[in-house]
Amino acid sequence: MSQTAPQHIVIIGGGTAGWMTANLLAHQWGRLGTRVTLIESSEIGIIGVGEGSTPYLRLFFERLGITEREWMPTCNATFKCGIRFPGWSSVPGYEQYVHPFFNQEDLAVGSEMFTNARLRRRGSVADANPQDFFIAAELARQRKAPHYLPRADGKAAPSTDYAYHFDAGLLGTFLKAHARKLGVSHQIDTVARVDRHENGDIAELLMHSGSLVAGDLFIDCSGFRGLLINQALGEPFVPFKDNLFNDRAIAIPSALDEREDIASETTSTALRHGWVWQIPLSSRYGNGYVYASDFVSPEQAELELRQHMGAAAHNREARHLSMRVGRVEQHWRNNCLAIGLSQGFIEPLEATALMLIQFSVERFIELMEQGEFSRRHQARFNQRINQMFEGVRDYVVGHYRLNTRNDSDYWRANRAHGHVSDRLASILEVWDQGGDFEAELTRHGEALIYQRPSWYCLLAGMGRFPASLQALSAATRTSTLTGEQARAAIARTSRQFFGHGDYLQQLK
Ligand SMILES: Cc1cc2nc3c(=O)[nH]c(=O)nc-3n(C[C@H](O)[C@H](O)[C@H](O)COP(=O)(O)OP(=O)(O)OC[C@H]3O[C@@H](n4cnc5c(N)ncnc54)[C@H](O)[C@@H]3O)c2cc1C
Repeated sequence: MSQTAPQHIVIIGGGTAGWMTANLLAHQWGRLGTRVTLIESSEIGIIGVGEGSTPYLRLFFERLGITEREWMPTCNATFKCGIRFPGWSSVPGYEQYVHPFFNQEDLAVGSEMFTNARLRRRGSVADANPQDFFIAAELARQRKAPHYLPRADGKAAPSTDYAYHFDAGLLGTFLKAHARKLGVSHQIDTVARVDRHENGDIAELLMHSGSLVAGDLFIDCSGFRGLLINQALGEPFVPFKDNLFNDRAIAIPSALDEREDIASETTSTALRHGWVWQIPLSSRYGNGYVYASDFVSPEQAELELRQHMGAAAHNREARHLSMRVGRVEQHWRNNCLAIGLSQGFIEPLEATALMLIQFSVERFIELMEQGEFSRRHQARFNQRINQMFEGVRDYVVGHYRLNTRNDSDYWRANRAHGHVSDRLASILEVWDQGGDFEAELTRHGEALIYQRPSWYCLLAGMGRFPASLQALSAATRTSTLTGEQARAAIARTSRQFFGHGDYLQQLK
């Protein structure tokens, strides 16, 4: 580590962002003498939602040397094979689709989905709904874990990608205990004033208790309020409201159905003014309606959610939340780094917030370890994190853009507005015009963020096969594998996997 790396890091905020950051930094630099102090307010709560992840979270636990056996049972965690999207498209055969996490064995059947999508774009007859082709989709259908049963031949199992669902409050408690083991000092206090040096750096924090806290790096994990980055340093916020309309959410937990095994996917069902998540934990379901307040009132939205949930919502209290969607211009400015909701948030459709937290902290560590704390490094960092936010945003906006619902102005407006990024506009145009889609994806390089399989799943999964394009094509070749055949093949493969409940039980 360089001599210029911070000796005392002060983190403001004890939500998931604060504790993830504290763990990563203390793990990396604690043994080299860096002190990490985390301060959280007892007067200002944490957001308390955020129960789904991407596969990237596995690397977080691996980096810290924490096994699934250690953290999952304590956090009522379950496995996530992917996300199912009912109701986004009305195209026959595509009324729901999945965005699966991929498995090495998908090279056999799953890759046929890409071939079929290409054929279909050229006017051939071909099934191309990802839910018929990918192993993870079948595992989720059968409520299985993404873990192979022990193999009779003793060989290593093919690699399987997967993510997690967890109780956000319990994960926070777990991470807090682990951070303290790593030497993180924890204080309960509220920042009352932020004092700055002439060069703009944060000098010290005056706390409600009257104490002064100094440090050489301050990390803003204060949530949507952006206490240090926005309020103290005045860093501008770039809203994504133009193309991501949703700014509110309502959460209602519900009971599991004891007669069924625990589901192993997130379900994101489109309703009239947004979409509803259903996240299975080992103890309950988390449910929530993400909607746009420009199109529906909180009361009406709650009614829609309750109608959707039926009896499961009876006698359950609803929590209403606001969301600040967008990002700060610079995530690292002076001696302040913004991590978590303070740096920005893309609505939770693809459950990417913890991934952005982890990615930001990891890139920061990487840059610091290159030994220089310069403006050039800061600019590179900010550019890369912005690229990440915008890449995720484009993929999420793609879901709304491709919807074919006609039951509200909300869905029509999502389809029609003129505010998609040049990158997304170009990807959609090449797909729709029958151009070279592979070349188009490659052209965007590392700015793409979501890779080829995810784009195919989204576009083909929504049934986006423009009729005009098909009429132009003379091709008549049919696919070599139908959806039905593919489904039979993945059903055979799925026999090699553990039941979800059984595997979770084994972890205990
Ligand atoms: C509806 C919704 C659904 C979501 N779903 C997902 C999901 O599925 N997957 C995912 O990855 N993410 C999701 N997220 C995002 C996720 O919840 C957050 O990224 C995550 O919880 C981190 O929040 P945070 O720690 O940045 O902020 P918070 O949890 O809000 O914590 C803020 C902390 O700052 C402290 N604080 C504030 N002001 C002061 C002060 N003056 N002095 C001292 N301390 C202070 C508070 O005490 C608190 O500890 C969702 C978010 C929303 C709104």
